[in-house]
Amino acid sequence: MKDSLGRTINYLRVSVTDRCNLRCRYCMPEEGVEWLPHEDILSYEDILRLAAIFARLGGEKVRLTGGEPLARKGLATLVAGLRAIDGIREIAVTTNGALLEEQLPGLLAAGLTGVNISLDTLNEWTFRQITRREGVRRTVKAIDTCLAAGLPVKVNCVPIAPEEELVELAGLAKGRSLAVRFIELMPLGPGAQFPPEAFQPCSAVLERLPELRALRAPGGVARLYQLPGAVGRVGLISPVSHDFCARCDRVRLTSDGKLKPCLHSDKEISLRGLTGRALRDALAAAIAAKPREHPPLTPGEATAGGRPMHRIGG
Ligand code: SAM
Ligand code: SF4
Repeated sequence: MKDSLGRTINYLRVSVTDRCNLRCRYCMPEEGVEWLPHEDILSYEDILRLAAIFARLGGEKVRLTGGEPLARKGLATLVAGLRAIDGIREIAVTTNGALLEEQLPGLLAAGLTGVNISLDTLNEWTFRQITRREGVRRTVKAIDTCLAAGLPVKVNCVPIAPEEELVELAGLAKGRSLAVRFIELMPLGPGAQFPPEAFQPCSAVLERLPELRALRAPGGVARLYQLPGAVGRVGLISPVSHDFCARCDRVRLTSDGKLKPCLHSDKEISLRGLTGRALRDALAAAIAAKPREHPPLTPGEATAGGRPMHRIGG
């Protein structure tokens, strides 16, 4: 459906849990996270009911995210349920990849159509600094298993590692048919407290990789590039330095049932407990009321009313 500004909103991002098996510094503190009580988390039935109404309003794409979506039991059941909804043609997952290899067969059988795997460096030491856990090799293995299974893969990187490691990460796209996408650090949750120099514009990646050639191919919110002779692509996504509100096509559902028309706004509409006509009307009204844009993102000034990404869904 169209919002009040005529933008087509056909993309729903669903956070299925606020919990996670990593502790990325820009997303969560190491200790003391206040998890949502289990009884506040939407059931798969609740999510499917809402997704079916979203599809009737013109929704076509659903992304499952978190927290870590694969940390929630039975995610493949939810994927299969979404697959059965008329109109939903894409069902993707955004994951840190830690549990992906073991769950991939079930997710593929359920009808998963794509995966975004978050990986900020190929250096194990830096990975540990960022995520406070181990995992580079496991994540790269999961990427290769997805590619071997024919699943489209995007690797998402928040560029905070040393520049030479970002260049190395972009190199994943040389011999692999995937997109490595650099997404600027945003002032959300603990990320807001990072020093100003950590908020590297994506253009810094371009400067380190002058051999990147711009492509004309449509990349959604990403500007697409390619390294000479590469099979895959490199994408730059600049929510901070180059906002794309005019092309925004999505709304977000938090794991406790709040619809967020804009990632950076503190406006949330609770859909919990609504069914039938009341749910449809609330969802349509929330989409229609999507704001034109968010204020400029500034290091040090947390947006989204202080909600960190693991409680929104990236
Ligand atoms: N756990 C999954 C993962 O990491 O892919 C899904 C949820 S995570 C919140 C989704 C994405 O948000 C990840 O790619 C992560 O890097 C990104 N993210 C988290 N906090 C961020 C921040 N402050 N700025 C930019 N991206 C952030
Ligand atoms: Fe977990 Fe993803 Fe947040 Fe990292 S970014 S702590 S993997 S939810």
